[in-house]
Amino acid sequence: MDNLLDIKNLKTEFMTYAGKVSALNNIDISIKYGEAVGIVGESGSGKSVTMLSIMKLLSENGKVVDGRIFFNGRYIENLSEKEMQSIRGNEIGMIFQDPMTSLNPVFTVGYQLVEAIRKHKKLPRKSAWEKAAELLKLVGIPDPERRIRQYPHEFSGGMRQRVMIAMALSCEPRLLIADEPTTALDVTVQAQIMELMKDLKDKVNTSIILITHDLGLVADICERVFVMYGGMIVENAGTNQIFEEPLHPYTKGLLKSIPRANLGKERLKPIEGQPPDMIDLPAGCPFLARCPHAMEICYLRKPPYIEISDGHGAACWLLYIKNGGV
Ligand code: SF4
Repeated sequence: MDNLLDIKNLKTEFMTYAGKVSALNNIDISIKYGEAVGIVGESGSGKSVTMLSIMKLLSENGKVVDGRIFFNGRYIENLSEKEMQSIRGNEIGMIFQDPMTSLNPVFTVGYQLVEAIRKHKKLPRKSAWEKAAELLKLVGIPDPERRIRQYPHEFSGGMRQRVMIAMALSCEPRLLIADEPTTALDVTVQAQIMELMKDLKDKVNTSIILITHDLGLVADICERVFVMYGGMIVENAGTNQIFEEPLHPYTKGLLKSIPRANLGKERLKPIEGQPPDMIDLPAGCPFLARCPHAMEICYLRKPPYIEISDGHGAACWLLYIKNGGV
């Protein structure tokens, strides 16, 4: 068994006052043991809903209506809430955008880390404190024996995010999900956190899902990228393939909007237009209102996903026609 996570044909919907939102439409994602993948897209594209579906943490009005999620040998839908709690605590660690929402300001960082460690491992308190200091050291916090007795507000934004990473690693998870982990940080600290994640990937051999709107971020640590748009996977490729030979017009647009050192006189071009209204998705391709190549069929039918080379494919009618489809 190669894959830690296999998502097949996942469909998730939300009932809202304004109508039904089809947040995920037939999503397929797979992640190997020890692999780092990026899920990239604008807000509302379905990245975070994918993760909430995996964790069975959808809000009350949300529901997985079709598809299967297989995690480390088990079908998620067959598991009870108690079993899911154990998976969330022990096998999946999460890092969010804003560490202050996850850290309790009234307890020291050490106390919170020790509580997290003791929840998952039956360690005596003294050993748990030693382990907590080790984790702080692992994530690059200097002078961990002193820092461990400090409160979250005594840490900078970047250092707090390091604490959150230590917290997520405390249960030695098989999968680490990082949801926009650096969005709230300035560019230099962002680079340091990404460097840390890259380093940890090699040291602790955990699989990583990096959820981000920034395609540039995945280049550093991810081996594979899933590009999402309008609740669909529009392209899936190895990271080099995405940068060297993007297939989908949306991915091409994303690449033109990333600042690069070698840009020269070429200007950054943001993708014009707005993401689709998820309550009123077009019958055809969700990207059609912004696509310079939209054709009649794009309005009528959802584009099929086709694989062009090993592990590289996209959902686009233009690609389908170019490759001999009708
Ligand atoms: Fe553009 Fe059509 Fe391809 Fe959608 S299916 S990305 S509208 S060419």
